[in-house]
This record gives sequence, structure tokens and C-alpha cells, in this order.
Amino acid sequence: MPIINRIGNFAEDMKIWRRHLHKHPELEFECHKTSAFVIEQLKEFGVDEIHDGIAKTGVVAIINGQGKSNGTTLGLRADMDALPMQETTGLDYQSSYDGKMHACGHDGHTTMLLGAARYLAETRNFSGKVALIFQPAEESGGGAGVMVKEGIMERFDITEVYAMHTSTTAEPGHIYTIPGPIMAAVDTFEITVTGVGGHAAYPQESIDPLAATVGIYSAIQTIISRNHDPLKDAVCAVTQIHGGTTDNVIDEKAFIGGTIRTFDIEVREMIFRRIREIAERQAEAYSCKADVKLETGYPPTVNDPGKTRFAIEVAREIVGEAAVDGETGIELGAEDFAFMLEERPGSYVFIGQGKGPGVHNPNFNFNDEISPVGVSYFVRLVEKAQPVA
Ligand SMILES: [Zn+2]
Ligand SMILES: [Zn+2]
Repeated sequence: MPIINRIGNFAEDMKIWRRHLHKHPELEFECHKTSAFVIEQLKEFGVDEIHDGIAKTGVVAIINGQGKSNGTTLGLRADMDALPMQETTGLDYQSSYDGKMHACGHDGHTTMLLGAARYLAETRNFSGKVALIFQPAEESGGGAGVMVKEGIMERFDITEVYAMHTSTTAEPGHIYTIPGPIMAAVDTFEITVTGVGGHAAYPQESIDPLAATVGIYSAIQTIISRNHDPLKDAVCAVTQIHGGTTDNVIDEKAFIGGTIRTFDIEVREMIFRRIREIAERQAEAYSCKADVKLETGYPPTVNDPGKTRFAIEVAREIVGEAAVDGETGIELGAEDFAFMLEERPGSYVFIGQGKGPGVHNPNFNFNDEISPVGVSYFVRLVEKAQPVA
């Protein structure tokens, strides 16, 4: 795998950092030890400023380059949090905490951004300054959104943002992305249908919420098939129906819920509106009442076309033309870097780590071999976007 030589020289150190992080996973906003470790390394590298306590345990490090800024300040972002699941890899550095695991490669992402910090602080072959963003709570809680709300873009004059995520669907060191939407918005709906409970042998005395719930279920299936532009991608899936407790009771309430995945704010709004209309009116048709809760999660992750062309160019420079796919398919997963891309133009890419158990699998492990590639990509973004005059 082609990399910048100087970075290859500290690949062994990165392996040690990554395995330390892997062994000590932390959840959501509680990345206390992780951010302390990040800060300790950043101090050792001699970065110019370290700002901690952003979004509770988030950290932003500033490194100054040489000479006047050309008006561009890149924000490079890594997520630090793990998942609430039990690791079964049996690695000698497997999670030392029960029920917590780095199963999404965020240990690797944090390591790669630390590697970039070390190289950039050492070489400073760029103008202006660069901001390295270490965020908590990607998996749940939307730490990126909280850091944005706490004003990091303005506070550190960040003009564009970049991030990457490991992937088990591509060869080690291959990079893939796409201009425009790359990951979906994830929202949920929860509908509680209320009727009147009673004895099942006397249906005339009760109002069955199950009948209304089945009606709502069927009608929701028509949102994508009848209300939605077939040329756009979207999912509206009922994933839960609960109702009834025993054979001779008509229960008073039933519940139906699911997930909505979209790439377009208008599509998202249309689905929200239709779910509400369908639930309320179907329930009414069965003399029931529907209480509809629509919860917005992460927005769609939308890559800026210009910045993504630039990211593809940099990726090609590092790993070669054949190892870069700049027109990959969109993914129905979600990513809270979306909140940063709503604020500033930028690009999100995937970096292959080779086949193996996928992310969120209890046997997943980040491939240390790709760390120098990720670091090379990060630092070339900076050197190319902010050249020394
Ligand atoms: Zn994940
Ligand atoms: Zn992840």
C-alpha cells in the first residue's frame, strides 16, 4: 500500500495506540479516558492548542502551519466512541470492559487522526492552521451535532470538513466515496392506537385497536409505492407491532413502529406527513385514536461535490487510480458527521480494510495495516488545500 514514508516509520506506534484504545472502549459522551489519552498524545506531538470539554469529552487540536492562511482551514474529524456490545474476538487486547466494544473501528479512526496530528505537527508543510476534531457519541447521541452547536466551526474558523470510515467491503487501503448524498437520514416513528378494551366474546362492547393497527400497517406500505418518486431512494419500514395479551381479551391499546431512511429533506417530510395522515385517519375509520410520534435522528450525509472531487484527487494521489472509486453507491446506514456537513462543505470517504466480520459484529476488528494509508490521505488533504505560499 503506497503511503508517505515518514508516516510508515511510526506505524508501529499507531498499532500500540490503537490496541490501547481497543482495550478501553467507552460509550456515547462518556469518552473520558479516551479523550485523556488523545490529549496526552497531542501534547507529546507538540500541537499548538488543545481545547477539551467540547460536547462533554470532545477535543479540538489546532496545529499552525507556515505563513499566512489562504483562507482555508480544514477540519479533520474522527469519532472516539464504542458500542454497547460484548466482544468475542478473543484478541489479547480485546475489550477489558464487559458489554462495551470498539466494533465500528472508531479506535482506528482516532488512531489515524492522532497519526495525522503527529505528522502535521512535525512537518508543518502547510499554510494557516488545521483543526483536528475528536468527537464522542457518534453511534448514538449525535456528538458531531453537539460540537457544531457548541460553535466549533466559528470558534476555530473551520471552512471545510473531512472524515473517513473503515469498511470491510473493500480491499485494504482502497478508498471509495460519492459526490452528493452518501449516507441516509435515519428517523423513527411510533404509533400508539387506542380503542376500548373488553371481553373477546362480546366484540360489540369493545373497539379493537388491532383491526386499526393492521389497517395502518397496510396503508403505510403504500407510501413508498404510491406517494414517492421511484427515482429517489427511500425506506419506510414497519419493524414492530405489539398488541394483545391473551386469547379472550380485546386490549385497549396496540403499538406499531418502524424506521425511515431518506437522502432528501423533502422526501423525509413527505413520509412524515403521510405517516401522520394514515395513522390518524385509519384509526378514525375504526373508531380508534392514534397518537403519532415522529423522531428525527441523524440527517442525510451529503458530500459537497467540489470538495469530494478534491478528496478523490488526493486519494488517487495516495493509493493510485485503480484503488479509488469516486462513484460508489449510497448507503442506507447513517453517520452523525452529517451534522458537520450541514454546516460546512466537505467530504466523507470509506477506506477499505479487507474482508472479515463487518462493523457492529462481535468479531470485528480494525485492520492496523491501513492506518498509515488513512493518515497519508488526511495529511495530503491539508497540504494540498493549504499549500505553503
Ligand atoms: Zn457504527
Ligand atoms: Zn462507525
